[in-house]
Amino acid sequence: MTVSAHPATLGLPGTDALRARASTALRHCGAAGLDAYPEQDPGTGATVAARTPLTGAVLAHLPATTPEQAEAALADAHRTFLAWRTVPAPVRGALVKRLGELLTAHQEDLADLVTLEAGKIRSEALGEVREMIDICDFAVGLSRQLYGRTIAGERPGHRLSESWHPLGVAGVISAFNFPVAVWSWNAAIALVCGDPVVWKPSELAPLTALACTALLARAAADTGAPPGVHHLLLGGPEHGELLADDPRVALVSATGSVRMGRQVAPRVAARFGRCLLELGGNNAAVVTPSADLDLTVRGVVFAAAGTAGQRCTTLRRLIVHEDLADRLVERIAHAYAQLPIGDPYHPDTLVGPLIGTAAHTAMTEALTEARRAGGTVLVGGDRHFADEAPDAAYVRPALVRMPAQTGIVATETFAPILYVLTYRTLDEAIALQNGVPQGLSSSIFTRDQREAERFLAADGSDCGIANVNIGTSGAEIGGAFGGEKETGGGRESGSDAWRAYMRRATNTVNYSADLPLAQGVNFL
Ligand code: NAD
Repeated sequence: MTVSAHPATLGLPGTDALRARASTALRHCGAAGLDAYPEQDPGTGATVAARTPLTGAVLAHLPATTPEQAEAALADAHRTFLAWRTVPAPVRGALVKRLGELLTAHQEDLADLVTLEAGKIRSEALGEVREMIDICDFAVGLSRQLYGRTIAGERPGHRLSESWHPLGVAGVISAFNFPVAVWSWNAAIALVCGDPVVWKPSELAPLTALACTALLARAAADTGAPPGVHHLLLGGPEHGELLADDPRVALVSATGSVRMGRQVAPRVAARFGRCLLELGGNNAAVVTPSADLDLTVRGVVFAAAGTAGQRCTTLRRLIVHEDLADRLVERIAHAYAQLPIGDPYHPDTLVGPLIGTAAHTAMTEALTEARRAGGTVLVGGDRHFADEAPDAAYVRPALVRMPAQTGIVATETFAPILYVLTYRTLDEAIALQNGVPQGLSSSIFTRDQREAERFLAADGSDCGIANVNIGTSGAEIGGAFGGEKETGGGRESGSDAWRAYMRRATNTVNYSADLPLAQGVNFL
């Protein structure tokens, strides 16, 4: 692993330069630059502050979507649905194909905005944009493969089959940490499935949402698709609640914390709407005595410290066989101590800022709680550049040895903390891995095929994602993404996740002159 000490100073440009950078990227994407919005809070209370975690500065105050605008957007999305559902799916695919082309042309601009808003280092920001392009490719192919089944029926002269139809308006609520990828997983698939999208992005990431919305509007104009296939609601939780409560929104796809899911799911259920939940994780890796330690160290450090620990799939628990725990922990601690922390635009930086100072407070509290429970913080948790950027939170990822899986270990703290636990038998390791309320991602590092298969078996990991010899994060778009238990049970992105965006109709066609009833029932 290539590691080097982080620089002595952040050396970030001032707020004006950051505003200019955002404006350039926005304009390239066809959205208004930040000079269209007030820099100072107009005091109306109806704004979304575009803030950068790089310095904590507010770059602009954007007008939040008003209730009247939201109502108009929902009405238009529903009206558009009634027409869009009759457009052949491959023609709908042409819109997504064009979107993919525009995303490709603007990947640098979008990555700039992702770094500015979410604090991701350059390669991860570009990776997130790549994910958008990949899902567009996938969705375009899918637009010719929305297959139903022909089913063997029991009656002569009858044909039994199922067909898939557009579902309705898809409401997308997204989190700050994947400000654009999660939207694209939903939007690309929903659009080919015939569902217009109403997007409520994180209030912490409005600029990337404006850029993506402008690019999609252009794709619609270029391909003759109705502009109503996509609407944006800028605002906070109350804007998400509009989607949760509105019966015109057939599917609410909500990504965020378990807390948010607990609020959204019952509201959607109360009106019998469909919910797709992608909630918090508390992901673990098991390391067995046969593991390739070089590969394990690299896999663990990327999964735990990458994205400054702010992925839903971030590795938060390391479950190591007791015979190798000391050796492995020493190597990880060494790598952690040298991780370059700082300006995420700098090519050498591996750890950018947390989303805000509140995240550092949560991290500090979790570390205090871990110590109280008998844990030892081996490295990390310390804040850097606090004098230079008092409103930002640059922290060294923390590595903590824990005597047991206590309450704080079973909790998702959205910050880079890796708890190390030890085990003696694989059964014990799997019980620890499964012994938390969340069920998103998991992995095992081993060269023993029996151990690997046991981990993947029905009585192995209980997560939606179970990997062997790679970390818990960094999924490809081709697979279905999501998790069990408090993670919410949703699946999106690849495989057959598209089915959540469509309704299934079972069709029985009688082409005979008789009317035999199912199950041999006689009547008339
Ligand atoms: P958050 O729950 O604070 O906010 C997520 C979104 O939900 C935001 O757009 C927010 O405005 C909205 N929201 C909040 N309360 C709402 C309510 N009552 N009704 C409707 N909408 C509401 O999450 P965050 O801090 O932005 O993101 C971090 C969390 O998201 C972590 O828990 C992380 O694990 C999770 N996450 C999960 C996945 C996944 O795919 N499983 C992906 C990314 C992030």
